[in-house]
Amino acid sequence: MQVHLNEIGPDGKLVVRALEQAWLEELLQGGEPYPYHAVRGAEAPVHLRKMGLEVLVEADFRVPLESACSACLKEYQLEVPVAFRVSLQPASARPRALPAQLELTGADVDADFYEEEFIQVDDILREQILLALPMVPRCGDDCRGLCPVCGIDLNTESCGCSTGEVDPRWSLLVSMKASSSKGDERP
Ligand SMILES: [Zn+2]
Ligand SMILES: [Zn+2]
Repeated sequence: MQVHLNEIGPDGKLVVRALEQAWLEELLQGGEPYPYHAVRGAEAPVHLRKMGLEVLVEADFRVPLESACSACLKEYQLEVPVAFRVSLQPASARPRALPAQLELTGADVDADFYEEEFIQVDDILREQILLALPMVPRCGDDCRGLCPVCGIDLNTESCGCSTGEVDPRWSLLVSMKASSSKGDERP
């Protein structure tokens, strides 16, 4: 999908890109080491606004995906939130636009360019969806993973294996708890 500058009126323009399951699958294929799959299609409402020659592209939607948890290996479904603001300058202004692009660093806006008065909405969506994927898929914050000794799923079963070390996240919690209770004991 592409939008010509002339289609963007003074109040901006809203386009709704229907992301077919096949389109998402093509985008996601080859995602190693953690593959994601599209469960079904999704809709991406994209808002475009013109500010002089600059075009601001914004969207906020969710993509239903499936992956395998990195800790317990279970297949699970997740809704990946995709929210972005991209500021586009005309490609012809590329050298002059550089200082403006630098100014944007720090703000929550990505800077890019558009060619020939066309905004390539699909290209932006592809990039932003890939950026939104969790680096490491996890079925839940409290997933206990697999026992490193016998391999059973610790979410559903327990075993008598001794792994000999405390999960570093737990030891951090334990030390935090210890120091906060110390603080409570005022003389
Ligand atoms: Zn898990
Ligand atoms: Zn075990």
